[in-house]
Amino acid sequence: MTTGQLREIDGIPVYGNFIGGEWVAATSGATFENRNPARPSELIGHFAASDRGDVAAAVTAATDAFPGWASTSAIARANILYTAAERLNARLGEVARDLTREEGKTLREAIGETSRAVAILRYYAGEIQQPDGEHYPSANPHTFLFTIREPLGPVGIITPWNFPIAIPIWKAIPAIAFGNTVVLKPASFTLLTTVHIAEVLQEAGLPAGVFSLVTGSASQVGDPLVRDERIVGISFTGSDAVGNGIKRIASERGAKVQLELGGKNPAIVLADADLDHALTQVINGSMLSAGQKCTATSRAIVDRRISDEVTARLGERIAALTVGDPLADATQIGPVISDEAVTRLAGAVDRARAEGVTLVTGGTRPEIEGGHYLAPTLFADVANESFLGQDELFGPVLGVIPVDGLDEAIAVANQVRYGLSASIFTRDLGTAMTFIRGIQAGIVHVNSETAGAEPQVPFGGYKGSSSYSREQGKAAREFYTQLKTVYLDPPPTGA
Ligand code: NAP
Repeated sequence: MTTGQLREIDGIPVYGNFIGGEWVAATSGATFENRNPARPSELIGHFAASDRGDVAAAVTAATDAFPGWASTSAIARANILYTAAERLNARLGEVARDLTREEGKTLREAIGETSRAVAILRYYAGEIQQPDGEHYPSANPHTFLFTIREPLGPVGIITPWNFPIAIPIWKAIPAIAFGNTVVLKPASFTLLTTVHIAEVLQEAGLPAGVFSLVTGSASQVGDPLVRDERIVGISFTGSDAVGNGIKRIASERGAKVQLELGGKNPAIVLADADLDHALTQVINGSMLSAGQKCTATSRAIVDRRISDEVTARLGERIAALTVGDPLADATQIGPVISDEAVTRLAGAVDRARAEGVTLVTGGTRPEIEGGHYLAPTLFADVANESFLGQDELFGPVLGVIPVDGLDEAIAVANQVRYGLSASIFTRDLGTAMTFIRGIQAGIVHVNSETAGAEPQVPFGGYKGSSSYSREQGKAAREFYTQLKTVYLDPPPTGA
């Protein structure tokens, strides 16, 4: 039994909220259950169905803990984060397995994601020890004029289910590192992974109230968190409709807001590309994690001279992907998150076929232990302006869009409201530079897939993908701190 577990119901763990350094049930005592998307007969756990009273208690804990944490030295904060990294690393296999059981990505990907969370903890333990603030010349020769960075205060963090450990960690850890206190409301599908996060931070000796976890619905937990006047910053990752709504509410009351939203990411494949390599990268970018990444490739924009060959070869390789239990070694593609998601995706496949788009492979729902599976799906000759070219489907669905050359490829890639990530496959450096300059995307890859993020560089998109926010790397310092400008004059001499 782990510390986050309060009791059991018929052998299935019941997990609590982590508030003020204690694991507690929702005040109402209510719980809800989560199931394995690969095998819905398997219960993962019962979780606290919290309400606004529980949110208020967590915000009170975060508010009370803030002065002490903000005045804790950066070195002491770093040491706690290093310890947390080691604790998480020590239970990496267990966390990855739980992540796969509740989210459905393959165990290999879950291990990769958990390792990344460890790397993020280590990175911010180091980043917080970097030089801080700036010294400026002053008009007054006696004035020492400089800036210091200070934390914002208690912040609210709201996260999606598709990276259940990496995203909460990459938001909460810089917040904590820079002296803020955190209330996390994670996505309701993936809570066991966040129980691990709270346990690891508790084991590392993080003071009570610096990090709280409150589980429950968007309306009962997410909305009250966004509206609480004591929460001075909100970091959100999820769908654009929800994110933009949160931004309106939180900015109206003067809170600082960071958004990471959707994507409709293009991979341009030109005639001079190394095709074997390009196809592998396009398939990985579109199909791994069952296409449920904000940075997933969903449009393959291909030079018309090679588009028949590329479509045929993509079709063969996508049809050969092994779909099934994500815990099995041979599996390449697991289920999508829910029955609602697979039904929505199957509906999109039907709609595209009804609109006359050529289905090359996939589109079916494999019957595997009642899991939420969609066979990896490829469409040919997709029109960029159609819904297949414009809407984020968030599943293993790729469309090939033929174009005539580089200029049209870039123009088509940009004809979308998103701008998160984009790739080009070419051997020509000049072509790559034209793409880098012309593409409207916050993250640009040359000869690699659209997905992937390292912690030391800014992450975020252009246009509707981020609403001008960036996170990770130095960008996290910008968001989670505020500047204080100091005019320091010596006392008058001879007084
Ligand atoms: P979502 O439905 O927008 O939910 C995200 C989070 O917001 C969940 O914790 C959800 O709680 C909560 N929430 C929903 N409505 C809310 C409200 N009115 N007030 C406060 N909180 C609210 O997104 P999702 O389905 O979890 O994730 C998929 C989306 O995330 C995709 O669009 C994907 O592109 C995007 N994403 C973006 C990035 C990026 O970095 N750009 C990374 C990953 C994912 P419940 O779970 O309880 O409903």
